[in-house]
Amino acid sequence: MTASANPIVPTHFLKHIIETDLSSQRLATKHWAGRPGFAAAQLTGPLDSARIRTRFPPEPNGFLHIGHAKSICLNFGLAHEFGGVCHLRFDDTNPEKEDQLYVDGIIDAVNWLGFNWQDTQGTYMYFASDYFDNMFTCAVAMIQSGDAYVDEQSPTQMREMRGTLTEPGKNSPWRDRPISESLAQFHAMREGLYPDGAMALRAKVDMASPNMNMRDPVMYRIRHATHHRTGDKWSIYPLYTWAHPVEDALEGITHSICTLEFEDQRPFYEWTLQKLTNLGFFSEPLPKQYEFARLNISYVITSKRKLLQLVVENHVKGWDDPRMPTIAGLRRRGYTPGAVRLFCERTGVSKSNSRIDYSLLDQALREEQDPVANRSVAILQPLKLVITNLPTDESVMCHAPANPHDPTAGQRNFPFTRELLIEQDDFAEVPPPKYFRLSPGSLVRLKYAFVVKCTGCVKDDQGQVIEVHAEYLPETRSGTAGSNTVKVKGNITWVSAQHAVPAQFNLYDRLFTDPFPDQADAQFVEALNPNSIEVVQGWLEPGTPLDQGLLQFERLGYFVVDCVESTAEKPILNRVTTLKDTWASSAP
Ligand code: ATP
Ligand code: MG
Repeated sequence: MTASANPIVPTHFLKHIIETDLSSQRLATKHWAGRPGFAAAQLTGPLDSARIRTRFPPEPNGFLHIGHAKSICLNFGLAHEFGGVCHLRFDDTNPEKEDQLYVDGIIDAVNWLGFNWQDTQGTYMYFASDYFDNMFTCAVAMIQSGDAYVDEQSPTQMREMRGTLTEPGKNSPWRDRPISESLAQFHAMREGLYPDGAMALRAKVDMASPNMNMRDPVMYRIRHATHHRTGDKWSIYPLYTWAHPVEDALEGITHSICTLEFEDQRPFYEWTLQKLTNLGFFSEPLPKQYEFARLNISYVITSKRKLLQLVVENHVKGWDDPRMPTIAGLRRRGYTPGAVRLFCERTGVSKSNSRIDYSLLDQALREEQDPVANRSVAILQPLKLVITNLPTDESVMCHAPANPHDPTAGQRNFPFTRELLIEQDDFAEVPPPKYFRLSPGSLVRLKYAFVVKCTGCVKDDQGQVIEVHAEYLPETRSGTAGSNTVKVKGNITWVSAQHAVPAQFNLYDRLFTDPFPDQADAQFVEALNPNSIEVVQGWLEPGTPLDQGLLQFERLGYFVVDCVESTAEKPILNRVTTLKDTWASSAP
């Protein structure tokens, strides 16, 4: 991991909490029987050899994005750092939007980021839907203990009775119904005897609580829907806020790390675990919930729902479009797992929301790749340069380091010939001030080759420059004693026209023009940048290695072969990022 090239690993409040828990031995009595289960089963197992257990709990209703990467790096990273394990748990309690396709995508994304959920003791990949029976058992026990009841109000009535932030709610007329009635109705709900929304199971907490989430939250609702794993077995499904503490406790999670919007749910999380512990299902040490600020990035949307809309409405070419902030998109664009991890680490863990600039990710990529990426030359906007004093049938082999930071990487070899291709903006017939590239009469070094003197240009009928002419100075060859005899200020890249390899280059810009595209709910599609992709047909230095990861094209940036559309006959390269931050001046 190149991330370790940065020896300063920032500390944060979650690490402090874990350090305290470990030094106080708070978790020392925890048992783990090798699989999720109630305390009775766990206590038959040995003391847990994992010092902490964290979890990454995605809902498989979309592909993961850079925000999830943050949570993955945090949860897997903490487990790794403190000798624990991190569970990959699919929170698939909501049947309608979930799909195996997303499960596979998530597994792929977490693996790609460099994390896994196996160790010598086991494999820690779980599905919340595997706990439906456990959850049902807990719910029945809570009805029996008087901590839950079946409410037959309509969803609208329930909402009306809930009160507001300034007014307490009112008790449902069903709140104090006999336990036996609630039990019978809960079983009838399960058997599918009632339509969706006819009734719900609610926790009996406090309708006057200042925390709205404690006003008898719904635990189970009726949903006649087919689940991607349990099929039609269930017609009731648990709600996340109730299911989540149960899932955590079944898995022996020690630190349940959530984003800040779950802060108000914490009292119910603790209430649920306390009730279920009193009922004998779980035992101390119980999981504890902690919240951190989610990752927000300027000009980027991190909401699965909105990203789905971009895909469905064809604003992008699928979940893995290189402009998407999905992990699949970042990967295809050419960002590396190491750069994403470094970015996540650097953005820190805090309790207050902020917005991070996307350029930090580019910076992480540059830092990681500069020492390792192979160098090459590409010409994106070609203009012909004719070396008039070099005969057509002559060529000079030139050399350059494959990687100037790594002598073992070897060298590139490419011919200097009469007809070359240079970038259009490396020639100006009337040069602006301080222009050190080609213009009539100027001297410029063609990198790794010779100093040339520009002698003029040829134009077409419209006055467009179609050819530049120059003479090379044979004694100035790079790498020879004479290379310094003529001093020049400009140094430009080139390829031999006859040997250059044609390729397509996809140049990307931000997907949105608004720094806060996800704030106004309805308008984010209107903030799409119409110029988020520019496709150009250009040329590659002959011999450019296209199968060895990222390339740094001199002066242009980091590129990678597009893993979906590129072919051997027609290479397509994505620009990951430029060599310098071109956005900094306009960043918010
Ligand atoms: P979305 O709104 O995009 O669907 P989500 O939070 O609903 O996001 P989940 O699948 O429930 O998506 O998320 C799995 C985990 O990833 C959760 O623990 C969640 O807190 C975390 N997570 C999601 N988005 C971010 C983010 N932007 N920054 C940090 N963590 C995030
Ligand atoms: Mg969610």
